[in-house]
Amino acid sequence: MKLRLAYYGDEILRKKTTPIDDIDSTILQLIEDMTETMQASNGCGLAAPQVHQSLSLFITKIPKYNDDDDEKVDSGELRVFINPKIISFSEELWPYEEGCLSIPGMRAVVDRPLKVTIEAIDQHGQIFTEEFEKFDAHVIMHENDHLNGVLYIDRLPPKKRKSIDQFLKSLKKKHKSA
Ligand SMILES: [Zn+2]
Repeated sequence: MKLRLAYYGDEILRKKTTPIDDIDSTILQLIEDMTETMQASNGCGLAAPQVHQSLSLFITKIPKYNDDDDEKVDSGELRVFINPKIISFSEELWPYEEGCLSIPGMRAVVDRPLKVTIEAIDQHGQIFTEEFEKFDAHVIMHENDHLNGVLYIDRLPPKKRKSIDQFLKSLKKKHKSA
């Protein structure tokens, strides 16, 4: 079932999420519904607060591109991150343009670490530690931020952040009245 998205201005996007104790049928159903919602919106990542669930869970499906010609190689596999923790990240930064399903209509370049190592639990209850880099690292850190009530627009340089003030205000108004 496709779930209703939470948009910028919704308080749930600013709340720190609660860890998941038990991967029960409710959680598995939530993962399934989040997958459907993400794919219907053509997203490559979705965090539980974006579907009005303040839980420490996000999913990703990151397309793989050919390094040489940027051609899409495959649409990527579904990954589930429950109670994730960032273990380490590189000093070196890698800028990339991000967007967010909760902030439709804009994209902006964000500086994030080139590499990140994350520990999390998958949908089968298996704990894993894995390193991601470049675009994948951006998606992972973007989604992980959602679990702490942080949005990518918070990470923009002050001048850029100020320039989108008006846009954000109208977005908030639009979804409040919707
Ligand atoms: Zn987002």
